[in-house]
Amino acid sequence: MNAMELSHFKCLQCAACCRQEGYVRLEKNEADIIADFLSMDIHYFIETCTVLTKDRLALSLMEKENGECIFLTDTGCRINCVKPRQCLEFPVKWKFKDFENICAWAKKASEKSDD
Ligand code: SF4
Ligand code: SF4
Repeated sequence: MNAMELSHFKCLQCAACCRQEGYVRLEKNEADIIADFLSMDIHYFIETCTVLTKDRLALSLMEKENGECIFLTDTGCRINCVKPRQCLEFPVKWKFKDFENICAWAKKASEKSDD
C-alpha cells in the first residue's frame, strides 16, 4: 500500500480496527472530554473505562474480554464524535501490522490494484 493510495482512504466502517488488541492511548484532556461526553465523573471513567499502559506514561481505553475496544457497539463507536486522536489518525498516520489484510478499505484497495 503506497502513500498515494492512502491519500484516497475512506473508512468503510467495518470496525475491524476497533477489534484489534492493543492500546488506544489517550492524550492530554481526552479522558476529560470523553468522560464529559458520557456524563461520567472523571475518576469513575478512569477507573472503569481505562487502563494504565505498561510504560506508565498514558491511559488507554479498556478492552473487552475478546480484545475489542470497550466502546465498540453493534452500531459502531459509542464515542465517535469525541474519539481519541489515535483513532482519528488511523490508518493515514499509523497502522498496525497486517493492516492490509484486516481493514475493509485496504482489502478493497488491494483487490483493485490487482485488477
Ligand atoms: S474509541 Fe471508538 S473508534 Fe476508537 S477503538 Fe474504540 S470503538 Fe474504535
Ligand atoms: S478497519 Fe479500516 S475500513 Fe474498517 S473501520 Fe477501521 S479504518 Fe474503517
